[in-house]
Amino acid sequence: QDALRLENIVKTYGATRALGGASFSVRCGEVHALLGENGAGKSTAVKLLSGLVRPSTGIIEVFGQKVEMTRPADAHRLGVQTAFQEISLVPDLTIAENMLLPYAPRTALGVLRRRRGEEEVEAHLRRIGLAEIDIRAEAHTFDLSQRQKIEIARAVFRKPRILLLDEPTSALSGDDIDWLGDIIGQLKRDGVTTIFISHRMAEVRRFCDRLTILRNGRDTGTSDVASVSDDD
Ligand code: ADP
Ligand code: ADP
Repeated sequence: QDALRLENIVKTYGATRALGGASFSVRCGEVHALLGENGAGKSTAVKLLSGLVRPSTGIIEVFGQKVEMTRPADAHRLGVQTAFQEISLVPDLTIAENMLLPYAPRTALGVLRRRRGEEEVEAHLRRIGLAEIDIRAEAHTFDLSQRQKIEIARAVFRKPRILLLDEPTSALSGDDIDWLGDIIGQLKRDGVTTIFISHRMAEVRRFCDRLTILRNGRDTGTSDVASVSDDD
């Protein structure tokens, strides 16, 4: 079964065609790369699948069901979570608040839930090797590579069925990239489907099973990563 299927997606911004008829399918449980140069339409695809913009025309299916994703809440309901490249943490909120948004109402019951939630956030960060993160510190106090890791940790905390990683290594190096590899491996063992947006073939080779290349807003097909030669 496919986790995701895009059929002939077109997205125009005024006279610009960000996507001009992109079609591809992502199988359940695979790590699927979406690869392309700047301007190829990767960010637009991420926004469509996160409920931030609507396609002009075309069909999106999630686990075999045709869906409308017109708001972020639609994506969340369908189990799609995104770690954005332009980190989406709110700078003046703590890590716990960011991780629990929008599930932290300021009612009495909310306070109880929130305390409970903070324990869950701490346990989650310990589990995925980020025990050093102080969840009561505001997001802006962390450096960019930490914020990118927290952004990824937050998407995972929300128990995705489909995880979108938008250029997840843009601020990472060395050990942090190994950390990401461990996360991707664990999710795969748990049956989560991951979409890995990148413009670096070396990373795709390391992390992904199949890849779809976007060029000028269209896909040029999908192939097994293992079948792609080094000079592609
Ligand atoms: P990528 O992420 O692969 O670099 P984008 O999806 O950001 O590609 O952009 C694809 C094309 O659409 C580019 O030509 C870009 O300038 C254009 N584009 C993207 N977003 C907008 C927007 N909000 N308004 C106008 N043009 C846009
Ligand atoms: P990326 O590194 O993801 O390719 P871009 O530089 O293509 O980033 O775009 C950064 C952001 O600006 C994206 O959210 C994209 O949709 C938006 N954008 C890109 N091109 C335009 C444009 N011509 N007009 C308005 N917004 C744009």
